Amino acid sequence: MALVNENYLKLPGSYLFSEIARRINQFKATNPEADIIRLGIGDVTRPLPPAVIEAMHKGVEEMGKAETFRGYGPEQGYEFLIEKIIEHDFTPRGVELSVDEVFISDGAKSDTANFQELFGVNNIMAVTDPVYPVYVDSNVMAGRTGMYDSDKGQYGKIVYLPCTEANGMKPSLPKTRVDMIYLCFPNNPTGMTLSKDELKQWVNYARENRSILLFDAAYEGYIREEGVPHSIFEIEGAREVAVEFRSFSKTAGFTGTRCAYTIVPKDVKVYDSKGEAYSLNQLWLRRQTTKFNGVSYPVQVAAAAVFSEEGQRQIKETINYYMENARIIREGLQAAGYTVFGGINAPYIWMKTPNTMGSWEFFDKLMTNAHVIGTPGAGFGANGEGYFRLTAFGTRENTLQAIERIKTRM
Ligand code: PLP
Repeated sequence: MALVNENYLKLPGSYLFSEIARRINQFKATNPEADIIRLGIGDVTRPLPPAVIEAMHKGVEEMGKAETFRGYGPEQGYEFLIEKIIEHDFTPRGVELSVDEVFISDGAKSDTANFQELFGVNNIMAVTDPVYPVYVDSNVMAGRTGMYDSDKGQYGKIVYLPCTEANGMKPSLPKTRVDMIYLCFPNNPTGMTLSKDELKQWVNYARENRSILLFDAAYEGYIREEGVPHSIFEIEGAREVAVEFRSFSKTAGFTGTRCAYTIVPKDVKVYDSKGEAYSLNQLWLRRQTTKFNGVSYPVQVAAAAVFSEEGQRQIKETINYYMENARIIREGLQAAGYTVFGGINAPYIWMKTPNTMGSWEFFDKLMTNAHVIGTPGAGFGANGEGYFRLTAFGTRENTLQAIERIKTRM
């Protein structure tokens, strides 16, 4: 008899997006004429930049000729892409990395979900609350979280770091010792960032406690303000305690094309029960070479074109387009009297629901009165209750119209 991995049974089910779809369908059945605008999605809508498409075509052509055909590539990615990443994303910020510290992958989702495999099952993990659910669910599957308490909406063994209006959506250091800490800045869903001094506290904590920071920088490309750190490695000492996840998904429109990268410095160590140190970089290489066979060649060629002069210009244009939407949403909501966070260095706007209304109740009201769809904060964790996420990934026209409707119909 094949037994199930009972950790999977602890997962309450992917309630959020299926529940949103169910409510929209129900509404559409009774209101077939309603012109619904979706500002709930976390997916990009603008096409891939022309420089990327051109490079991808060339990569495909090479695969069709015997002289340039490539079979299995290096599991950790081609050097031509890794070198561009280092040269463009890290060297100008004073961060020195070697080629074998960068691992190309098919997504920050898979990397953030898989990375926990390298850690002992008894490690205590901390996440911000609200949080990108992948960090939590992947640790549930691994058996690191204890049981789910449906009243609290939390797992027994996870240390939750609340991000609320009271602390300006910035997590405080944990009060009890933790071993693995997931941080995501610019944040999904709150759209907030941390300053260098704030990040430094986390690096110091990790160094003092021999903890590891799992830093998700998937939205780094949306940082607008000077002085906001783009990489955890801009913080002194981070090379000893941090891993960073990055992605071409939101920066260059690769959500359906799939390419990302994870930085694992050779100085980061994990320990066995006797206190002996092991290189996390070596363990991740071992893991990836066993379980992953690399990103396809044409996609890596396409990703490298993001760093060309035209590629950079084109991705900036797209990001500017989304960030103008973010400004319209943020300022529009503020003018309508809402309290809002984010939307300055991230494509997410995190608004407080009026009069402490529940986030699902607000979802229904917004859909019914304004025909606008967003994401209820409760879907991102217990401390997301009372908040609501709107995204800047829609069209300009829809964004303007959604805000107009919120102003006049809510
Ligand atoms: N990390 C965060 C915080 C995200 O919001 C997302 C996607 O929405 C991802 C990672 C996934 O990125 P990728 O498309 O590279 O898997």
